[in-house]
Amino acid sequence: MEADVVVIGGGLAGTMAALRAAERGSGVVLIRKGYGSSAMSSGTIDIAGPEQFLPMDAWDTLPRIGDRLKEILRTNPLHPYSIVAGGRTGIDNLQERLREACDFTLRQTPGLGLSGSHGQNVALPTVAGTVKFTAFAPASLIEGNLSAMTDANVLLVGFKGLALFHPHICKQALARYSSLHSPRCIAEIDVIECDVPGSQNGRPLKPFEIAKRFDDLHAAEEFARSLAGQLPPKVTHVGFPPVLGLDNHSKTCETFRRHLTPRLFEMIAPNFSVPGYRLQLSLDAALRNSSVRVVTAEAVDAKRDGRIVRNLLLGDMKSKRTATAKNYVVATGKFSSGGLVANDFPKEPIFGLPLFCHDKRADDNFIGNLLRWNVDSKQLFLSCGIHIDSALRPLDAFGEPAYENLFAAGSIIGEYDYVSEKCGMGVAALTGYLAGEKAAAEI
Ligand SMILES: Cc1cc2nc3c(=O)[nH]c(=O)nc-3n(C[C@H](O)[C@H](O)[C@H](O)COP(=O)(O)OP(=O)(O)OC[C@H]3O[C@@H](n4cnc5c(N)ncnc54)[C@H](O)[C@@H]3O)c2cc1C
Repeated sequence: MEADVVVIGGGLAGTMAALRAAERGSGVVLIRKGYGSSAMSSGTIDIAGPEQFLPMDAWDTLPRIGDRLKEILRTNPLHPYSIVAGGRTGIDNLQERLREACDFTLRQTPGLGLSGSHGQNVALPTVAGTVKFTAFAPASLIEGNLSAMTDANVLLVGFKGLALFHPHICKQALARYSSLHSPRCIAEIDVIECDVPGSQNGRPLKPFEIAKRFDDLHAAEEFARSLAGQLPPKVTHVGFPPVLGLDNHSKTCETFRRHLTPRLFEMIAPNFSVPGYRLQLSLDAALRNSSVRVVTAEAVDAKRDGRIVRNLLLGDMKSKRTATAKNYVVATGKFSSGGLVANDFPKEPIFGLPLFCHDKRADDNFIGNLLRWNVDSKQLFLSCGIHIDSALRPLDAFGEPAYENLFAAGSIIGEYDYVSEKCGMGVAALTGYLAGEKAAAEI
């Protein structure tokens, strides 16, 4: 298999790299062994969120994204944002490149109706009644932006048998949260619990099952019509757990909106949520509509010649399938996706790149030393990864580019913690977009 650019990894970073390199005229092959963390995510794109959620007196005390980025540049010169910025004074450059990369991501996923802002985070309610701050979210989630509501009358819709969402608990937490901020976003919350169309009473249901049922527009229509007849007066917003369709999501939402006049929103759910899977499906659709060739295989080794990568060995060692390109992008993620592996010591398995954590070598460090046993504390292993130069080339142990024709993107890059800094997909979109651009330009 031959191409101008081979991208390894099918998460947000690898997909953006492949699409950008193809847009720049390169013949691109994307190799992935499975879906990325995007499929496990909440489906929102975090660029830089506040590290602490509460207490906040008012919505306007929420740190702006630009201020959080400046803080990152000031405090962490090894953060991928600092590398792209070119140092502490490069905030304008960073913001410009982030804007390009996010606009590119939004253009590639039109079906999701992603919206938001580069300047200020939106505040989206979760199924637990807490709040997630993020930069961009799909249309069905963004309607729940609490910082855009004033004195709203909200109806929360629960589904019998859905353990993910307990509307009464959510109501208590959300009411308390709302009372802490001025102006008051929610004045009143009502709750209703409904039967899922076609379900047997009392059977436990998973969010994906309900979403698939609402893909059937007839079932969606019946449900929405019946709910419309039960709406309490003065309801301004109707909130659902994120189950309004999977493959047919936008048409399901349209059907609901035809029957329900208040604003509708879905709430954020924890890992393996339906909106995360919708994001992955829409990345797949973007790849299908491009000239990128997608190959499902595992890259197990790379043949290297001095500072040049010659080819990749795919599948098991016996099959001897290879992929050859002029340039390569490694976007294989962290531990959960297999980009990094750890038995006793963390390791990058394809190119044997050195790993770092807080500017110290991590691959000679027992993995247990990168774990904190207190679940509330920051986990060091989340910051473990490779170092890169300003051209996004992975560095060797001496700080030199390891290979002339290898670029890196996404969470395989170390020195940032997407959980506490809330910048996971922002870094993936930015570095993916730039790595694809650089890999294509160097041909
Ligand atoms: C559970 C979870 C929830 C999250 N929620 C959010 C969120 O709501 N918002 C947000 O902004 N960020 C979120 N993040 C962070 C964000 O999803 C990641 O930081 C970002 O998506 C990483 O993208 P990536 O493309 O670098 O890696 P990944 O998405 O991990 O993709 C890696 C890809 O490489 C492939 N791969 C790995 N090894 C090989 C190999 N040897 N050969 C071939 N292919 C290989 C994998 O199969 C996969 O396709 C979440 C992360 C997790 C784990």
